[in-house]
Amino acid sequence: MGEADYRFGDAIASLEDGPDGADVTFTSGRAGRYELVVGADGLHSATRRQVFGEVPLTHLGGNIAIFTTENTLGIDREEIMYAEPGRLIFAYAAGGPARVGMIFAGEPKSSIDEAFRGGGWRTAELLAAMQKAGDLYFDSLSQVEAPRWSSGRVALLGDAAHCPSPASGQGTSMALVGAYVLAEALAEAGDHTAAFATYESRMRPYVAKNMAFGRRMVKDMVPGGSFAIAFRNYGMRTLKYHPRKEQVIERVLAPLREAATAIAI
Ligand SMILES: Cc1cc2nc3c(=O)[nH]c(=O)nc-3n(C[C@H](O)[C@H](O)[C@H](O)COP(=O)(O)OP(=O)(O)OC[C@H]3O[C@@H](n4cnc5c(N)ncnc54)[C@H](O)[C@@H]3O)c2cc1C
Repeated sequence: MGEADYRFGDAIASLEDGPDGADVTFTSGRAGRYELVVGADGLHSATRRQVFGEVPLTHLGGNIAIFTTENTLGIDREEIMYAEPGRLIFAYAAGGPARVGMIFAGEPKSSIDEAFRGGGWRTAELLAAMQKAGDLYFDSLSQVEAPRWSSGRVALLGDAAHCPSPASGQGTSMALVGAYVLAEALAEAGDHTAAFATYESRMRPYVAKNMAFGRRMVKDMVPGGSFAIAFRNYGMRTLKYHPRKEQVIERVLAPLREAATAIAI
């Protein structure tokens, strides 16, 4: 059984790929030669930048903030949504504090205060709670479409290679599936060049389907005009009374199922 060495609080400072290995220097000053380097460092991957230069993110037109706060909304094992044109708040809780998400249309990382100013319902209260949150995540809804996922001894994995944006709800699955496919390809192939090519060719169709799903979903997450919001609110409120509820849910979920199962492992 092999062993893995975990090092926390360190990062790659420089990386030089060569025929006998990749020479890596870390920000801690430590250095080493590695047979393979796998960059699984997320949407803003520094490894991707080191190897491929700047790969522009594809902005999907919205931004998302998410944070944990006291559950003053009185929700338990349920999720609530409040939408106005161009902005949406959702919150869920499962017995503990609430997780609150705030999504709005706009340029990457434009001002969230401005975007939600004057919002109805409990917008002002939740904006204030966001300021005090200890775990605020805030970023644009963006995708990564790296033209290649490997170069020499370096491969990209997960969001670093193909972030589908949080709108897809598929990024974790794609990252895990990618890790499995990459490991399998490395185990099968005699060398990393063949393995990286297999990894990419097996993953590409599945990734393309999930990226397309993400682009489609972003239209639901970043609300359009008042009519679309009223239509959705009515649909959500009345779904539980619909005589064919199961079929309606199945129809809504069909594109997700298709994307999620577009690979066999
Ligand atoms: C609000 C939100 C909701 C989401 N909801 C879902 C969902 O419902 N379902 C789903 O499947 N996916 C969801 N996702 C997407 C999911 O979180 C990502 O797709 C997934 O985490 C990608 O995994 P990863 O390992 O590739 O990257 P990450 O999880 O981003 O991990 C990258 C790691 O690399 C580290 N790192 C970054 N730079 C460096 C560096 N220079 N040196 C060293 N380390 C570095 C980071 O600290 C981080 O730990 C959501 C994302 C967000 C933001």
